[in-house]
Amino acid sequence: MVTSTFKTTKSEEIFAAAQKLMPGGVSSPVRAFKSVGGQPIVFDRVQGAYVWDVDDNQYIDYVGTWGPAICGHSHPEVIAALKETLDKGTSFGAPCYHENVLAEMVIDAVPSIEMVRFVNSGTEACMAVLRLMRAFTGRDKVIKFQGCYHGHGDMFLVQAGSGVATLGLPDSPGVPKSVTSNTLAAPYNDLEAVKALFADNPDQIAGVILEPVVGNAGFIPPDAGFLEGLREITKDNGALLVFDEVMTGFRISYGGAQEKFGVTPDLTTLGKVIGGGLPVGAYGGRRDIMEMVAPSGPMYQAGTLSGNPLAMTAGIKTLELLNKPGSYEYLDKITKMLVDGLLDIAKETGHEVCGGQISAMFGLFFTPGPVHSYEDAKKCDTNKFSRWHRGMLERGVYLAPSQFEAGFTSLAHTEEDIKRTLDAAREVMASL
Ligand SMILES: *Cc1c(COP(=O)(O)O)cnc(C)c1O
Repeated sequence: MVTSTFKTTKSEEIFAAAQKLMPGGVSSPVRAFKSVGGQPIVFDRVQGAYVWDVDDNQYIDYVGTWGPAICGHSHPEVIAALKETLDKGTSFGAPCYHENVLAEMVIDAVPSIEMVRFVNSGTEACMAVLRLMRAFTGRDKVIKFQGCYHGHGDMFLVQAGSGVATLGLPDSPGVPKSVTSNTLAAPYNDLEAVKALFADNPDQIAGVILEPVVGNAGFIPPDAGFLEGLREITKDNGALLVFDEVMTGFRISYGGAQEKFGVTPDLTTLGKVIGGGLPVGAYGGRRDIMEMVAPSGPMYQAGTLSGNPLAMTAGIKTLELLNKPGSYEYLDKITKMLVDGLLDIAKETGHEVCGGQISAMFGLFFTPGPVHSYEDAKKCDTNKFSRWHRGMLERGVYLAPSQFEAGFTSLAHTEEDIKRTLDAAREVMASL
C-alpha cells in the first residue's frame, strides 16, 4: 500500500530553492529525476539499508549512494574509525600510514594490481589511466564501448551511456571534436567490431577500456568469451586492456570482475566502494606500467587531497568488513532473491521484463530482452519504468531514477527487506 503518511512537501520546498542556486538543483545530474519525472527526494539521513527524507519518509534503499554503501549506510565501525581519524586531522598533504594499509589491501585483492595511485574520484582515475595508456604505448587512440561510462573526462564523452548517440561526435558541447577524434566506440559484447577497429588503425591504438560488467547502461554482463577475446586481441596488437572497475570493484566479488571472470587486465580503475562513502578513486596495474607515473616516472598526475587519512580510513574499514567470510555469498543470496522475485512478479502480472544480478549488483529492463548491448537496452519501455519507479517510491522503496542504471544491495539488507520490496513490487506491477 502507498504509505498513508507519504508526503513530499519539504523535499519540494528545498528542491525549489536548490534550482535557483545550482544548475538543475543538484551537484550531479543523475540525482535529478529528469528521466522519471517528478521531483527528487531530498535526503535527511541514512542508516543500514534505509534512507530517510526531509519529510521523514523511510525507504529501503537500492542506490547505496551509487555504490559505496555496500556494508550498509553509516556502518558503526566505519563511523567509529572515521571519528578516531578525524581527531588527528582531515588532510595532511604529506604521506600517511593509512595509504600503505589501503594500498596493500587493494594489491592483495585485485589480481592485476601490483602498484596503485590514489585519487579522489572515479572520473579522475579514468582520466589518469587514459594518459598512462598513451604514455606507455606511445599511441593516441583508445577503444571504448557504447553505453559504458568512464567519468566525465572530455575524451570519454562519446556514447557514454544515455547521452546522445551520434557516431564519433562528442556527447556534450564544450568537448572539442579534436579530443574525441581519438576515441573509437564499439558495441558492447561485439568482438568482431573491436577486431575491425584494430585492423583499420594499425599500431595506433593504445588500448581498450571497458566496464567488465556494464552498470551505466543498465546491468549488462559480458557474454561468454568476450573478456577473454579482448585480452587476446589487445595482447596480439601490443595494446593495453583496462578494466574500469569503479562500479564492479569489491562489489561483484572482493577482487572485482577480473577475479570473478578470471581475466586479468593490464590496468584497473577503482572508486565507489574503496572510498566507503568518502571521495576516493584509484588506478593501478602492472608494476612496469605504473612506474611511469610521476614522481617515479614522467607521466604527470597529482592531487592536493589524494590519499588523505580520512578517506583512506573509510576505505580500509569498508574492505575489512567486506573481507569477512560469507560476505559475497550473502550479497549474492539476497540479491538473487530480489531479482528472481521481481522477474516472477513481472511474469505473473503480464509485463515483459528481463534482468539479472551478480553478487550485489543487479538490473531490470522493461523489455523482453535479452540485453547484450546499449542498443538492446534502448528498446526498453521507459514510460513504464517511470511509473514503476514512482509507484515503488510511494511505497517506501528507493530505486535509481533511471532505466539505465544498475541497482545495488548491501550487507545491511535483510530477507525481510527483500520481502517488503517484493510486496510493494506486486502492487505496483499489477497497476502498471
Ligand atoms: C561512477 C563511475 C565512474 C565515475 O566515478 P565518479 O567517482 O563519479 O567520478 C567511472 N566509471 C564507472 C564504471 C563508474 O560507474
